[in-house]
Amino acid sequence: MDVRSLVEEHGTPVYVIDEADLRLRARTFVEAFRAAFAEVGTSVDVYYAGKSFLSVAVARWVREEGLRVDTCSGGELAVAVRAGVPGPEIGLHGNNKSDDEIRRAIELRVGRIVIDSAAEVERVATLAREAGRTSSDPVPVMLRVTTGIHAGGHEFISTAHEDQKFGVSLAGGAALAVLRDVLAHPELDLVGLHSHIGSQIQDPAGFRAAASALLGLRAELRDVTGRLVPEVDLGGGYGIAYTSDETPIDVAHLARELAQIVRDACAELGTALPAISIEPGRAISGPAGVTVYRVGVVKPVTVSGGSGGSGGSGGSGASGEAEEASDGSTFVRTYVSVDGGMSDNIRPALYGATYSVRLADREGAAGVLRSRVVGKHCESGDILLPDVELPADVAPGDLLAVPATGAYGRSMASNYNNLLKPPVVAVRDGVSTVLVRRETEEDLLALDLG
Ligand SMILES: *Cc1c(COP(=O)(O)O)cnc(C)c1O
Repeated sequence: MDVRSLVEEHGTPVYVIDEADLRLRARTFVEAFRAAFAEVGTSVDVYYAGKSFLSVAVARWVREEGLRVDTCSGGELAVAVRAGVPGPEIGLHGNNKSDDEIRRAIELRVGRIVIDSAAEVERVATLAREAGRTSSDPVPVMLRVTTGIHAGGHEFISTAHEDQKFGVSLAGGAALAVLRDVLAHPELDLVGLHSHIGSQIQDPAGFRAAASALLGLRAELRDVTGRLVPEVDLGGGYGIAYTSDETPIDVAHLARELAQIVRDACAELGTALPAISIEPGRAISGPAGVTVYRVGVVKPVTVSGGSGGSGGSGGSGASGEAEEASDGSTFVRTYVSVDGGMSDNIRPALYGATYSVRLADREGAAGVLRSRVVGKHCESGDILLPDVELPADVAPGDLLAVPATGAYGRSMASNYNNLLKPPVVAVRDGVSTVLVRRETEEDLLALDLG
């Protein structure tokens, strides 16, 4: 679809999702993982990590492609339910689930509640009993295990104790003790072990190490209790390309590698293969989304005393190639302001996440302008792209497109400065459909009781 007609119809900023692309990525995970694990003799369920972006339509699409839905709050559960996803095809995570959330998950008969702490065992068991669940109809639970492996980006750090809030550590027998506690509760059914080691992972070594650690714990639990849990969830975090310098993880290759690790580890441990589940989020929704903004103000800013080194928050820093003034001690940086910013994409400010950008409504003039693309918020750190090349004639009224914003854009959006959250528009076969409409001032004021 022509981006100009899309914008004419839906305005800016707008999140655009390519439905066919999202569906294909979802299907690819199911097909690649099922094929690879079938080869070694076991099955795979793919849960779409709803936190990356969940709407009723997207939940339906992924379900149609054979996925289940992973949620971590009452709100996400509500969207999945509205989409008609049956409870048994939903998972519920979270390090601090409320009693209400747990109660709803039990009522909905979700496929698994992922227990995240020692204290949560008794809470879930109590709520299960209150709901009338007994050993003949127990509530399926998993335990989130912290394997000591944390991965993300190109990092791969192994530590004995992870200083973070999720899960129960393998170290010192902590996870094993919680698992035994779960088994001592007849109203709970321990269906598996879970691990999620991080996000935006490009190096499969972390997945390999985590899978081995979980399978080892599974064998240990069998040795101690005689109980071999049927399922192992390897989590999400599959890396995507945010810029042309990055390479997305090769899903089919990773699936084959993981299948071999699971097969070999189980053979070594003398256990039957578990059923496998995985939870990709950004790798499904991220590359399918593009945010389109309109340029408002283009402002050359003379920066003194430097070579154009890093400035603002978050970016990898300006390159020093900005136009140098004749005396070499000042340079001009062009600030290109768009009509959104940190409220529709917090990732650059939050994590220093990098993106690319294109002039989207016309062909630009020759020559490039080293630019910083910023939002409209009252915050100097409201920088979307700290240092990018745009055509030299970029001007007010132009459209800029930022790709790979389908994950953790709308789902992390805020109303900072009382900006209105942009709509999410799906495109397919030359037709655009609003999945989530643009917020209005009435929406904002409806919450304000005066
Ligand atoms: C965030 C998260 C995911 C998905 O991560 P992606 O990087 O979007 O693939 C999966 N599982 C759990 C438990 C998570 O917290």
